Amino acid sequence: MNQEIMKKYAELALVKGVNLQKGQALMINAPIEGADFTKVVVRKAWEMGAKDVHINWVDDELTLLQFEHAPDEELDHYPEWKVLLQNSLAKDGGAVLNIRSTNPDLLKDIDPTRVARANKAAALALKEFRQYTMNDRITWSIISIPTGDWAQKIFPDKSREDAIQSLWEAIVKIVRVDKEDPIAAWDDHNATLATAHDILNKKQYKKLHFKAPGTDLVMELPKGHIWKGGSAVSEKGITFNPNIPTEEVFTMPHKYHVDGTVSSTKPLNYGGSLIDNFSLTLKDGKVVDFKAEQGEDTLKHLLATDEGATRFGEVALVPHESPVSQSGLIFYNTLFDENASCHIALGKAYPTNLEGGSSMTDEELDKHGVNDSLTHVDFMIGSAELDIDGILEDGTTEPVFRNGTWALDITGKNA
Ligand code: ZN
Ligand code: ZN
Repeated sequence: MNQEIMKKYAELALVKGVNLQKGQALMINAPIEGADFTKVVVRKAWEMGAKDVHINWVDDELTLLQFEHAPDEELDHYPEWKVLLQNSLAKDGGAVLNIRSTNPDLLKDIDPTRVARANKAAALALKEFRQYTMNDRITWSIISIPTGDWAQKIFPDKSREDAIQSLWEAIVKIVRVDKEDPIAAWDDHNATLATAHDILNKKQYKKLHFKAPGTDLVMELPKGHIWKGGSAVSEKGITFNPNIPTEEVFTMPHKYHVDGTVSSTKPLNYGGSLIDNFSLTLKDGKVVDFKAEQGEDTLKHLLATDEGATRFGEVALVPHESPVSQSGLIFYNTLFDENASCHIALGKAYPTNLEGGSSMTDEELDKHGVNDSLTHVDFMIGSAELDIDGILEDGTTEPVFRNGTWALDITGKNA
């Protein structure tokens, strides 16, 4: 990708993504293959007045080697120095930028038990750090850049070089970096999403009813739930965009009141293993049955992470004609696929999705129906056939989604 576009993308990630402040430290998790782009980001960060920039380089080949060779019992240990590194950055009020570009098939030949053990160890060790991100105590953002294996998964008929080029073109458009002024475009986009979540917050639906082929699910929303979307505000009052791209408005389901069956509509890349064509059946908020055409074992391990992994922590609405859907691509990368489709997350809810949630104890959160877990994994349920009804406190039902897109006026223009 040309230097000009890379500069615009780097600037977007730092200005709208983590909203880096003068005198703030920045930590970047980046793929070695994306070193060129990462260096553009680092240069920009220094220019913006960062006090320190730290990079944790990741590499698919090295990750695979670790899974192939690490002794079984070591998979249960996440190095303490890595925990200290992340916690001390967070305590110091640093910002975190994640550049996520994993090959979706990376771990397909690795025993899912080994992957599950390592994922659980990391999740346990990073519990404190996760409080910083999931409660918006610090500013953080996730973006992606193309890497060869990932690009070729999306464009299997193209050469490696052409696939990377095509993926760059798709991403640049989706993240609005093709616009003359991407920062202004994101201000507009954030405003649109804010209008949508304000309208939903006024509604305070008691329940949502999802209907689509393979899906018939009734989900209660906790009293005082908050819809969010687009930019977030950190504890220190800094506005940032946790995800680039983002097209969703989201809130939390009640952890004890979800009933019915829901089917996935896109493959789920769970840390380098694919789960595809799966369905979950819930009773009283808990998954009581599941099946998957691909990756059933991986799904089983995901659900076995802990009690909270069998319950829902997020519900997000995304119209089927979002820019990501319009690309017509399946990305095998949740950051993109979740923004092409309504989705639900298994696992931990964002306490910020409930009035007063950020300052509640674990017991209080549970009483309000806020799910807790070591994990939070989004899976896609949206399609052109999805209908959603909203059920108000007084029992009135109204259409929220029809044929995969908004039936409710979320522009505020016809109100
Ligand atoms: Zn989401
Ligand atoms: Zn999520």
